[in-house]
Amino acid sequence: MEFNLQPLNFPSDNKRPFVIAGPCAAETEEQVMTTARQLAEKGCHMFRAGVWKPRTKPGCFEGQGEKALPWMRRVKEETGMLTAIEVATPEHVELALKYGVDILWIGARTTANPFAVQELADSLRGVDVPVLVKNPVNPDLELWIGALLRINGAGVKRMAAIHRGFSTIDHKLYRNIPLWHIPIELHRRFPGLPVICDPSHMGGRRDLIATLCQQSMDMGFHGLLIESHYNPDEAWSDAAQQVTPEVLDFILEHLIVRDNVEMTESLLSLRKQIDEMDDQLMDLLTRRMRVSREIAMYKKEHNMGVVQTRRYAEILDKRGAQGSLCGMDTGFIRRVYEEIHAESVRQQMEIINK
Ligand code: PEP
Ligand code: MN
Repeated sequence: MEFNLQPLNFPSDNKRPFVIAGPCAAETEEQVMTTARQLAEKGCHMFRAGVWKPRTKPGCFEGQGEKALPWMRRVKEETGMLTAIEVATPEHVELALKYGVDILWIGARTTANPFAVQELADSLRGVDVPVLVKNPVNPDLELWIGALLRINGAGVKRMAAIHRGFSTIDHKLYRNIPLWHIPIELHRRFPGLPVICDPSHMGGRRDLIATLCQQSMDMGFHGLLIESHYNPDEAWSDAAQQVTPEVLDFILEHLIVRDNVEMTESLLSLRKQIDEMDDQLMDLLTRRMRVSREIAMYKKEHNMGVVQTRRYAEILDKRGAQGSLCGMDTGFIRRVYEEIHAESVRQQMEIINK
């Protein structure tokens, strides 16, 4: 299936990515207006705020609801910025449109639910408003594409995908792990669909925002959605990841946006080298599997089990340490060897059970 899209035409400064900034949530009229004025002064063109907040547990601040919508309208009237909010139900869509909100986004939890997305799509039929779709909380590209297609199928043509990272069981550095290959694959399959990075929900920490912004620019993302609050430490939700408009401005000032360079001769020659090395890697892997199948014959003849754990542990340790000496992440090399070993075992089982 293909998308039927029109350009977003979001305002941005010459050759810079477009930026949508604002607090996680609209808390009070004063907080919304102060943050909006400071952002506008820094040259921001689009203002976000959550009006209905999907919260993991009840009892947390769940947003001001309809009461906050006149504040958003005031932001637009007084600063000229376009406004953006999250919608999760047809009622949210109706109210957002009633108060003249310019851009809607669908949150990660909603994207994960096709029933909810279809209801939203039905409520958007015949409405000309840009809709941005965050990735689902789980790393499922097809589910993300499905949500985008449902909204587009309702006739919404100005669309973009927002990459905000994915939930994992072990929270290490990131609140939501980037898994960059997923948005990159989305872009490969649908080059006409803009992709926006949300470093705030990805990092979950304000000190990670600059790096994530730069990484997304280096990967050719089209825009950024960043949480900004005039007094982040006192924010009613997501305090740790919000930055002041001043810090945001500093981050954006230092962002290096590289020209979308045409493929040059030197890049072509580097890619050719990579292709050749990949051919060699494939050849080596094929040969390694062949030897592994010969080992299976031996094991079968001598009535041995397929997996010899001591040998397996030895390979993982030895190659992990070697990888680290070669400047690669030990965990990465271990994972590569785990996968190679798994395929090797699969092939040996075939022979032994024949
Ligand atoms: C948000 O943008 O405030 C938000 C709730 O994000 P997400 O849906 O990505 O968790
Ligand atoms: Mn938030």
